[in-house]
Amino acid sequence: MNRDSSPDSAPTAAPDLPQDTPEPATPEPAARARAEEARVTPMIAQYLEIKAANPDSLLFYRMGDFYELFFADSETASQALGIVLTKRGKHLGEDIPMCGVPIDRAEEYLHKLIALGFRVSVCEQVEDPAEAKRRGPKSVVRRAVTRLVTPGTLTEDALLDARRENVLAALARVRAGSGPQDFAYALAYTDMSTGSFRVAATSRDDLSGDLARLDPAEILVSDAVLDDAELRALLRDFPAVTPLPRQSFDGAGAEKRLADFFGVAALDAFGTFARAELIAAAAIVSYVERTQLGVRPLLSRPAKEAEGGIMAIDAGTRANLELVRTTSGERRGSLLAAVDRTVTAAGARLVARRIAEPLTDLAAIRARHDGVSCLVEDGELRRELRARLSRAPDMARAVTRLALQRGGPRDLAAVRDALDGALAIAALFAAAPPADLARSVAALGRVPHALVLDLASALADSLPPHRRDGGFIREGCDAELDLTRALRDESRRVVAALERRYVEETGVRALKIRHNAVLGYFVEVSAQNADRLREAPHGAIFVHRQTMAGAVRFSSVELGDLESRIASAGERALGLEQAIFDRLAAAVVAATETIRAAAEALAELDVAAGFAELAAVENHVRPHMEQGVAFAIAGGRHPVVEQALAKEGGPFVPNDCDLSPPEGFEDGRIVLVTGPNMAGKSTFLRQNALICVLAQAGAFVPARSARIGVVDRLFSRVGAADDLARGRSTFMVEMVETAAILNQATARSLVILDEIGRGTATFDGMSIAWASLEHLHEVNRCRALFATHFHELTALSQRCKRLSNATVKVTEWHGDVIFLHEVVPGAADRSYGIQVAKLAGLPEAVIIRARAVLAELEAAERASPAQKLIDDLPLFAARPRPAAAAAPADPKAEAALAALDGLDPDSLTPREALDALYRLKGLRREG
Ligand code: ADP
Ligand code: MG
Repeated sequence: MNRDSSPDSAPTAAPDLPQDTPEPATPEPAARARAEEARVTPMIAQYLEIKAANPDSLLFYRMGDFYELFFADSETASQALGIVLTKRGKHLGEDIPMCGVPIDRAEEYLHKLIALGFRVSVCEQVEDPAEAKRRGPKSVVRRAVTRLVTPGTLTEDALLDARRENVLAALARVRAGSGPQDFAYALAYTDMSTGSFRVAATSRDDLSGDLARLDPAEILVSDAVLDDAELRALLRDFPAVTPLPRQSFDGAGAEKRLADFFGVAALDAFGTFARAELIAAAAIVSYVERTQLGVRPLLSRPAKEAEGGIMAIDAGTRANLELVRTTSGERRGSLLAAVDRTVTAAGARLVARRIAEPLTDLAAIRARHDGVSCLVEDGELRRELRARLSRAPDMARAVTRLALQRGGPRDLAAVRDALDGALAIAALFAAAPPADLARSVAALGRVPHALVLDLASALADSLPPHRRDGGFIREGCDAELDLTRALRDESRRVVAALERRYVEETGVRALKIRHNAVLGYFVEVSAQNADRLREAPHGAIFVHRQTMAGAVRFSSVELGDLESRIASAGERALGLEQAIFDRLAAAVVAATETIRAAAEALAELDVAAGFAELAAVENHVRPHMEQGVAFAIAGGRHPVVEQALAKEGGPFVPNDCDLSPPEGFEDGRIVLVTGPNMAGKSTFLRQNALICVLAQAGAFVPARSARIGVVDRLFSRVGAADDLARGRSTFMVEMVETAAILNQATARSLVILDEIGRGTATFDGMSIAWASLEHLHEVNRCRALFATHFHELTALSQRCKRLSNATVKVTEWHGDVIFLHEVVPGAADRSYGIQVAKLAGLPEAVIIRARAVLAELEAAERASPAQKLIDDLPLFAARPRPAAAAAPADPKAEAALAALDGLDPDSLTPREALDALYRLKGLRREG
């Protein structure tokens, strides 16, 4: 390992840059010294110039075998990476702080920096240092930034998670009217490592859900978008947001930039795009070009996402249902982790996307189920397919690296093996499989056979990681290469022979011929034997080169000749290998489209086989899908809880759920679930949402049977979730989220509301839950599951005809509550809160006291039961609309409102609250 070009120098000596070494201090006049201090060395001048052109990233400045960082960059990096901060030379009289990473470990350090949210400009030496020296002793090696490494533009396996997509997204916003909020929005996104490229229209309401779905590693936005406080707040939830100047999002040049990138005259062939979509796509290609500098990555042509083709799931619901990661951010414990049985990295990436993007198109969903069904039934085919898939490498990412000239011999081998596997897999499907599978199999069949043979005959059995290492081309592949290698190897034997001869001639048994980068080949003897070589007759042959501690080194004319023969043969062999590599890589890159299609097909087959395996092992069934709003699950289970319980040997209690329209109604049902804490309400709610996600993602579902009318939007909320990081009170969050549901849910949606209204005082919480439930029933008219600990709400089922009550069964045993986890029709008779508190180990005295207080409260409740509420309150829809509030003031209401304003719910005891309620009702009656 060395810095700069002299191999034996100490890391910080930098011998090819004498101008950086501080000049020896000679007693000069003070003025001269000051002028000296102000002098900027040519290397630092070069550094500063490059740094100025790349201000918003850390600059990795290549010096020999190191990337060095200077000034503020070095301080940042040394802290972030935990590497030593040193100094090198002076700039304007101050020490220049510096740290460095060896190029062999650069990927590892890049990985750390990117993960910490930094961007890195990689600045390479773009000429041979010897070249620079020839220009003059003080000239600096030419350098240029060759790549900007950002979280969204990674391609190396070491920097990527094999089983996760790495998405770069761009958000475009264009004016669509004269109002202050009249904008059209679009997202374009790519995984540069595989070349996928899509655009989708979105809206301000759907934006956060769409971004959460794409889960981008980096988002490009115009700085104008960041001026919008609301969007800025929304984007704060994502790791890397890269603001770009407005020009990057300008509409006029967008089409041309795209056409130029893809080398077409016009974009018509790609389909029709809205203006915002074109702008977003153009922002992606410009950024990709800007970060890759010179090499053009092969992005696929942008494909437009079908509008409304994907189930709308907002960010909160995604987080709440823990679709692809848990609320604490881990994959483990998520739905994805429970259902992903794929055996390839590409399959794992695709299954994550499927879970994040359940479909809404009935035919497409059924087609996926057909494919899974075929592989469930044919266990032999499934096993064989999975065995072959598991040996197929990740060729999509390998092709991208080859196209970017970052590929190595192992990338060629990955393409060889995956293509070979693709052909074998295509042959597995004899009879005509269902359409989805047939499409994948057809794509495999288009694999170029000749390329597979070419790669197979060219590549050696064991391969080095880098092409510069050489030795990756098989013997017998290229006659000239074989010849050159023979010459090189022969020379090595000649060295061995020469060493034997020198030993005989000099009589020094320990004489060795060695090699290093500075001296080339040399003879080495111990210090005691050195004189023998210096004296006649040997002194005429051996020329002294170096005296080390304990050893002395000599050269000879013969050795020098050998040296150049060997070096040139080795170099020639390496050169020939490079040429063959380039030829093979070019052949692969030329077939990119077919190879990518085959890679995609392999991933699709892996997902289908994985879902089939899941169904077979975990006992999932094919859901019956239809239009309309049926929702009938028999014996449904929560896939994650079930698998977790199975590990501990516990059984999961399956439960039915029927949200289909009751006899004589068109709209779906709402089920109101009451029951004590820990009974299994939340589990029941979520399992039905997850069954719906799985079904529309194309998987089978954990149930005895399922009939589902396609869901267009899915909502799930839990009362009073903490969101302190965003600085909103938990109750505020709960209400914002509830508002979104009440405003957006359609008759085809599925809504899960879990203990809404928990985050505030009892009465207003209950009132909000009450009104929300009525709104869902009367206005949204969607299928919904509503868990609550407000037993009073169960009375609503008398009024709301599509609302039914369910409860989770518990029994009591010697004063202890036992959870049966069985959902049955009806309402819970009480909450068992005190029994649960007892289970949790609250002190006996507190339990006794709580029982006494409860008895008091229940007595008061009996005096005026909640039943009265339902009698006194007209149903939601029957009430006057808020617009009618301009009606003449009602003095009774005024008085009651004034009294209400005077109450502070947070400071009331339950008893006082109840009293206050009576007082308020009294005021309304008497005035
Ligand atoms: P609640 O929302 O009513 O307080 P949860 O749904 O959080 O209750 O469930 C509490 C615990 O009970 C869960 O962590 C789970 O281990 C267990 N549980 C819930 N439902 C079932 C079930 N159907 N079968 C077995 N165990 C269950
Ligand atoms: Mg719960």
